[in-house]
Amino acid sequence: MVKKVPKTKKVGPTRGLGTRYGATVRKRYVKVVTELKRPHKCPNCGFVRVHRESVGVWKCGKCNFTFAGGAYTPATKLGAVARRAAKGLTVEEVTKEAAKASAAAEPATEEKTD
Ligand SMILES: [Zn+2]
Repeated sequence: MVKKVPKTKKVGPTRGLGTRYGATVRKRYVKVVTELKRPHKCPNCGFVRVHRESVGVWKCGKCNFTFAGGAYTPATKLGAVARRAAKGLTVEEVTKEAAKASAAAEPATEEKTD
């Protein structure tokens, strides 16, 4: 009996890189790039049509809303802290809130790519 073996291995966004740069780096690259390429929700109209225009520049394909965000994701934790700070909260309040938010968001000690 002959077992069917697929001729190609699915490697996702690292296709073209081959065996280069190391498995760990390629794995991290896959994580970042899949999140980057995924359509994101628009903060203006709510449609999942936001794509990256350039590094840190995000644009909604539905309503043409263009906004600044993270390099690889439309919103980052640091961006949220900055927004709160811009609203006029004191530094203590902001850091307290950020600590609370990060404690709630990250139960495990997982590495974040921002
Ligand atoms: Zn939109």
